[in-house]
Amino acid sequence: MSKPPRNPRRAYNEDGNEIPPATVASTRAQSMTTVAAFCQANGCDHDATVPLHGWPDQTPIPDMALRLRCSKCGSRQIKMMINVEELYRMTHGTRFTSK
Ligand SMILES: [Zn+2]
Repeated sequence: MSKPPRNPRRAYNEDGNEIPPATVASTRAQSMTTVAAFCQANGCDHDATVPLHGWPDQTPIPDMALRLRCSKCGSRQIKMMINVEELYRMTHGTRFTSK
């Protein structure tokens, strides 16, 4: 029995089974309204905050990268992460007004 090829945008447990990714809905359920995108292109290091507004609920967060392009260098090598700044603000109960 051979396993299907691995998806580079998914995490796998030690048995090689895919770990279900966070989705737009599950991230919103944690009161998050944005995620962070990081450009993986060599030497770019551009990062951006991406609002979840407008994305379908069932979209896996890692797959948002497929629809994004770096605004600095134009690369499509994007990695999605939880927006730790937003998480930090939430955890610490401090709200900053946005511009
Ligand atoms: Zn870039």
